[in-house]
Amino acid sequence: MMYQSTRDASHKKYSAAEVIKMGLAPDGGLFIPESIPALTAEEIAALSTDAYPVRAAKILGKFLTDYTYEELLSDCEAAYAESSFPGGAAPLVHVHDHVYSLELWHGPTAAFKDMALQIMPRLLSRAIVKTGETRDALILVATSGDTGKAALEGYKDIDRIGIMVFYPVDGVSRVQKLQMATQTGNNVNVCAIRGNFDDAQTGVKKIFGDAEMARSLAEKGYVLSSANSINWGRLAPQIVYYVSAYCDLLNKGALKMGETMDVCVPTGNFGNIFAGYIAKLMGLPVRHFVCASNKNNILTDFLRTGTYDRNRDFHLTMSPSMDILISSNLERLLCLTAGEERTAAYMESLKKDGAYTVDAEVLAAINENFSGYFADEAATAETIKAYFEQYGYLADTHTAVALSAAEQYMATLDEVRPMVVDSTASPYKFAADVYESLGKNQPADPLAALDELAASTGTEIPYPLRGLGDREVRFTKVIDAEDMPAAVLEWC
Ligand SMILES: *Cc1c(COP(=O)(O)O)cnc(C)c1O
Repeated sequence: MMYQSTRDASHKKYSAAEVIKMGLAPDGGLFIPESIPALTAEEIAALSTDAYPVRAAKILGKFLTDYTYEELLSDCEAAYAESSFPGGAAPLVHVHDHVYSLELWHGPTAAFKDMALQIMPRLLSRAIVKTGETRDALILVATSGDTGKAALEGYKDIDRIGIMVFYPVDGVSRVQKLQMATQTGNNVNVCAIRGNFDDAQTGVKKIFGDAEMARSLAEKGYVLSSANSINWGRLAPQIVYYVSAYCDLLNKGALKMGETMDVCVPTGNFGNIFAGYIAKLMGLPVRHFVCASNKNNILTDFLRTGTYDRNRDFHLTMSPSMDILISSNLERLLCLTAGEERTAAYMESLKKDGAYTVDAEVLAAINENFSGYFADEAATAETIKAYFEQYGYLADTHTAVALSAAEQYMATLDEVRPMVVDSTASPYKFAADVYESLGKNQPADPLAALDELAASTGTEIPYPLRGLGDREVRFTKVIDAEDMPAAVLEWC
């Protein structure tokens, strides 16, 4: 199985290991597989009796053909171990009637990025060896909170990789700051920046673009690499849980082999939902995908009109991981639907004018598989309250956006199928907003919100968020953005 860029009509091929090491294609496009491997009904039936790590190794094996099955199984067993995902990764919970919640947040940072970031560093570590790279990889991350922590947990103590995370000193919540400052591991470093997230992000981008810096790092035996969500190594592991959800519906007797399910995904960068679409292209019986957005509903508008226009107001919402105006992975869907040449033109137009419009037949083809719905802040809060009061199900703010979108979509259907809603964060990750949505007053201390939410709902705080205030603080450094290169070199 080889890969090519979404913008390269000449179809230059790369191996999976190269693709995982490189992250982005040289022409600025994203990597996609040259063809989609098939998943047969017999294979799905066999997977349904497997544990999650085995399901993952078998599916990944179809895409990462330069990795052996033994390597993949060993990595999947380590990534999705009981100690990291107590009770198992990606459990499917029946909420009510046809609605199921695919809980992707039982990992070490209580959010769904763990599903990819627990395995991707292991794949990268092997890619370094497979591509004959002599230097070690240095991962630099600028974070506004959650991605940094998930990356730290994923890369900690992984061979031949170091990771350094920069965050704006006053731009993350107290819980997020504590999570990062108490990070364990021998190859990790965390540094606060005086400034905002853009300052941190610009600082990291400058380091990536600086030839002098690359030389200095090479002398110390390092090559820069990115943990970015557009890396195929982060996307491929996300295909697995859609197959896993179908297996679990079979096991629950909610459908028979070959019958379809619908899927609803709270969407930001379009990575998660696109992974589901790949599963469908492989042969997984998915009828339709609902793309759920918050008040930043650029994707809803795109899926309804064919025009993607980022010239609009940006809103801060209580589902911050979906607060986006550029949805990078949409480019992969455009490429599969409209081809490389038109995709390159759309992306050029996006860069130049901040907007593009796809041809009518492209939109029609996309709408055969995808519909867009959104929930504003009031609808999100109402959904949290209604789901807890009617069904005893406590959803986080992102999951609530998706539950609202799923309900809106199902109301249009003649025949309702099992609806799998991706649940992307623990309610405790956004405890204060969830607590307030239930009709209570937010406590002044953000850590107290966790205990109050537990006491008032009778649910449990997940292990990564327990006793945060009691852990040893390892990282306290605060620097100016211009001193970031020096801090990196010093640490190396
Ligand atoms: C990252 C994230 C999303 C959005 O996922 P995409 O793959 O970017 O579409 C949704 N919810 C949560 C909690 C996230 O962290």
